[in-house]
Amino acid sequence: MRPLVWMGVILSCAGVMGLLWNQPRRSALQARIVKTEAEWKALLTPEQYRVTRKKGTERAFTGHCWDTKEAGQYRCVCCDNLLFDAGTKFDSGTGWPSFFQPVSEESVATESDWSFFMRRTEVVCKQCLAHLGHVFEDGPAPTGLRYCMNAAALRFIPATKAGAVDEKIPDPTP
Ligand SMILES: [Zn+2]
Repeated sequence: MRPLVWMGVILSCAGVMGLLWNQPRRSALQARIVKTEAEWKALLTPEQYRVTRKKGTERAFTGHCWDTKEAGQYRCVCCDNLLFDAGTKFDSGTGWPSFFQPVSEESVATESDWSFFMRRTEVVCKQCLAHLGHVFEDGPAPTGLRYCMNAAALRFIPATKAGAVDEKIPDPTP
């Protein structure tokens, strides 16, 4: 019977490990802008909601700005936080808008992402923790980083319109 007992112990351990593995990991990051799921749903399109609040990924070459080369700003579609400047955008060939550097310390935060059995670094908006994409260490100079973003998480403000009042900008104060 002994081997059976051991088998039971091993299977139990595997079960517990499996449960732990599938638990959503608690984030150490604190959102400064907090809304309920219903509020986010009301604010966003279904695709924007799926990507930013449910950590989805849009299909490559489908986002509105993957190939945009115009000067301007890229802001968080959820909270309007300034994330990237078009001057740091480059053609990564991936079909997702890619940048080598965020605008400031206040733009994005990163976290380890172990989904799909891969260790990747997730990039989120520092203000509202919207999922933006991932960062990889195969980008161009000067940083060597590639912020691979979902266009659905970004709102592009062409330089010609920067400073103009956009009525659709959500009020960041809860
Ligand atoms: Zn945000």
